[in-house]
Amino acid sequence: MPHPELSESMLAELRGAVRGVALLPGDPAYEATGAVWNGMIDATPALIVRAADAADVAPTIALARRTGLPLAVRGGGHNVAGKGTVDGGIVLDLGDLRAVEVDPGARTVRVQAGATLADVDAATTAHGLAVPIGVVSATGIAGLTLGGGVGWLTRKHGLTADNLLAACLVTADGREVTADDDTDPELLWALRGGGGNFGVVTEFTFRAHPLGPDVLGANLVYTPARWRAAWRAVERWTRDLPDELTVITTTLTPPPLLDAGDEPLLLVGAAWASPDTAAGERLVDQLRTACPPDDEETGLVPWVQWQSVFDAAFPKGVRAYWRNTSFDRLDDAVIDVLVRRGEEQTWVGTAFDVHLMGGAFSRLGSTTSPFPNRGARFWLNTYGFWSDPAQDEARVAFVRGMARDMEPFATGGQYVNFMGQEVDGHRLLDPSVMFGRAVHDRLVGVKRRLDPDNLFRINLNIRPA
Ligand SMILES: Cc1cc2nc3c(=O)[nH]c(=O)nc-3n(C[C@H](O)[C@H](O)[C@H](O)COP(=O)(O)OP(=O)(O)OC[C@H]3O[C@@H](n4cnc5c(N)ncnc54)[C@H](O)[C@@H]3O)c2cc1C
Repeated sequence: MPHPELSESMLAELRGAVRGVALLPGDPAYEATGAVWNGMIDATPALIVRAADAADVAPTIALARRTGLPLAVRGGGHNVAGKGTVDGGIVLDLGDLRAVEVDPGARTVRVQAGATLADVDAATTAHGLAVPIGVVSATGIAGLTLGGGVGWLTRKHGLTADNLLAACLVTADGREVTADDDTDPELLWALRGGGGNFGVVTEFTFRAHPLGPDVLGANLVYTPARWRAAWRAVERWTRDLPDELTVITTTLTPPPLLDAGDEPLLLVGAAWASPDTAAGERLVDQLRTACPPDDEETGLVPWVQWQSVFDAAFPKGVRAYWRNTSFDRLDDAVIDVLVRRGEEQTWVGTAFDVHLMGGAFSRLGSTTSPFPNRGARFWLNTYGFWSDPAQDEARVAFVRGMARDMEPFATGGQYVNFMGQEVDGHRLLDPSVMFGRAVHDRLVGVKRRLDPDNLFRINLNIRPA
């Protein structure tokens, strides 16, 4: 039974206009495609349009306008806040548009908007190239790029968004536009962190960089008794590292399948984005000497393998709630929080990553992207991931508690892609606070020009008025 706003004739018209499928609740294919990554998001869209090509976008937008139903645009469906779906509205799912085309001579990569990070890495590594993207391979390139995109190459090459050269979009009035430095630099700027507010992106063009196919990857593992010493050593070690070394320090209890015991561990992960392996090994050795780990795995790893080491921890359907904080100090007061909260970890439940920022991230993009707080030295992502709904309250409370404990040290940045959904009426951060007034006003200008009626509002919404 279609939604009351969706007449049989409208559906027939849509089905005649698109090559993809239009699915209603009750349809077996609807059930199979309906859910997003975060199992806590319980939405029943009135209609899911699974696009077969970019030409399916404009008729879906037209239907959303005509019916007044809210429109959610989905790339990989990994948005933790569940913005890839909408209760009672229309989902435009681009997940079948996954082509990736590499131009090795120009070192550019054209990526369709439904591609995953695995699709991008698989295509680029074949040419000894990489686009800086995130660290879990099933994540969608679309949401990742439009929010920023942090990963193992951030310090060397900046965010994914910093490497966005052009995008093809369909706007709220159904026009196909290209945003690049020549045609519409203001729109290109907005897309590098301003989210899906401005239109449906059908294709991205990225700058790629020489890499691999192997990289030096290190994981230095510390048991709780050594955490304080390890964090102090990490603080000293990360003061002056070259851009080539990106460091992500994770506190978690390893999954039982790894047979690594059930006490939480501190993992100092590092990836070295340079062919000079010996120089990378010397840098890792500095930390090893300053604070010998309890265990270690270091060596050359195929880039694609390194990019999927976290995959097993994040299966689709897991319940999730995330918060993030940027900060500059890693002194004893902050270490106290990280150690105390780290000791509370259990498998499966919660964990947190501290990303070392700086490098190209801090130098690039302050004028070419709306991404906030480029000056942050560290970025903390606290994430819950569990399967039993009975644990919701405790896991959410942990993530919020960690965010609260870190508030005194926060330097004011929030990364939209590491934000959870609103739970129990907790509001997501206001975009004008998140981006700062001047950047927000500039985003509003682009929004007014391209989406004055706020059709694209299932996101961290930039309101046109
Ligand atoms: C397991 C996991 C690991 C992650 N790891 C990282 C990481 O390493 N680094 C990092 O930076 N982030 C990471 N993230 C966060 C990730 O960047 C965001 O969740 C992002 O929103 C995912 O994009 P998506 O396309 O999969 O999401 P979706 O849910 O499909 O979409 C997300 C948002 O983007 C908009 N959108 C999607 N496609 C389009 C389009 N074609 N045109 C316009 N708007 C669109 C949607 O409207 C929605 O608001 C991770 C998330 C998960 C769940």
